[in-house]
Amino acid sequence: MPLGEFDVIARYFSRSCGRSDVLLGVGDDAALLRPPTGQALVAATDTLVEGRHFLPGTPAAAIGHQALAVNLSDLAAMGAEPAWALLSLSMPRVDEHWLAEFASGLYALADTHGVALVGGDTVAGPLVITIEVLGFVPPDLALRRTGARPGDLVFVSGSPGVAAAGLEQLRSGQASFESPDPRVRRFLRAEPRLALGQALRGVATAAMDVSDGLLGDLGKLLVASGVGARIDLERLPVAAELSAHALPERERYLLHGGDDYELLFTLPPAALSRVPELVQAGGCELHCIGAIVAGDQLECRRGGQVVEIKGGGYDHFAR
Ligand code: ADP
Ligand code: MG
Repeated sequence: MPLGEFDVIARYFSRSCGRSDVLLGVGDDAALLRPPTGQALVAATDTLVEGRHFLPGTPAAAIGHQALAVNLSDLAAMGAEPAWALLSLSMPRVDEHWLAEFASGLYALADTHGVALVGGDTVAGPLVITIEVLGFVPPDLALRRTGARPGDLVFVSGSPGVAAAGLEQLRSGQASFESPDPRVRRFLRAEPRLALGQALRGVATAAMDVSDGLLGDLGKLLVASGVGARIDLERLPVAAELSAHALPERERYLLHGGDDYELLFTLPPAALSRVPELVQAGGCELHCIGAIVAGDQLECRRGGQVVEIKGGGYDHFAR
């Protein structure tokens, strides 16, 4: 007898969480949660659809990781500390092996960041995973997209583009999901930059996470802030994992790749002296790639020359 809906919830998604601010978790009609006084509640949700956000055949543990990571990355970009998550799971049938793997990937990342799964929904349908995350930030310290000003410097964390290279390895069949290739590992298990996001509170003038590609996402930040930017392509950090790729391909991964969960942010010149401390707190490299300018243009330069870059970010409804 395959498990029913309630057995699935009880067996895979009812682990106790150990957070004292969860007054009531999975099992009732809704969760009861106690937000800390004086903090704003930060909420974000993201959906993964098989064939669109992950390749058919992706190991379930990686899907569990990604479904939570993409959401935690949004909290990181707000400077928030994550606390709670809800999971809506639509799946064609009850596959216990799949569920055990999925739950292990999800809970492993949740445990790393002290996140409690407090509720959700379980339905039969195409494989679609929606997670909602909730976290906290002091309201006046939340990182928004709107605060970049001319003269601010544009930074990106870590090594953007590596996950996109990993995705391409998988898509082209050059690597399998089990491959030890660091590009593939990064794509399947990218880590949201939560520590960096919190360290940027009160320091960065604007921030967002790179989910649809560095250039397209920077464009969104610029529109939100009402400014332009000048980016020096030679200052983009080229990770060792990308060094084997020829320049055009490498630049495509760097500028248009998502899935690394890196943070893009702006610092006023006065905050430059704090970069070493941010590197330390964030546990990752930080690279200045350009500067904010007045106007509304995003200008990219290579070797001092302005270059035209085609293609922005990813738009689900674009034709
Ligand atoms: P309702 O019918 O009131 O919507 P459900 O039967 O869908 O309640 O869910 C029962 C309980 O299990 C609720 O507390 C709900 O939040 C939780 N739940 C359901 N599915 C999941 C899931 N995939 N992960 C975590 N909690 C879940
Ligand atoms: Mg329900």
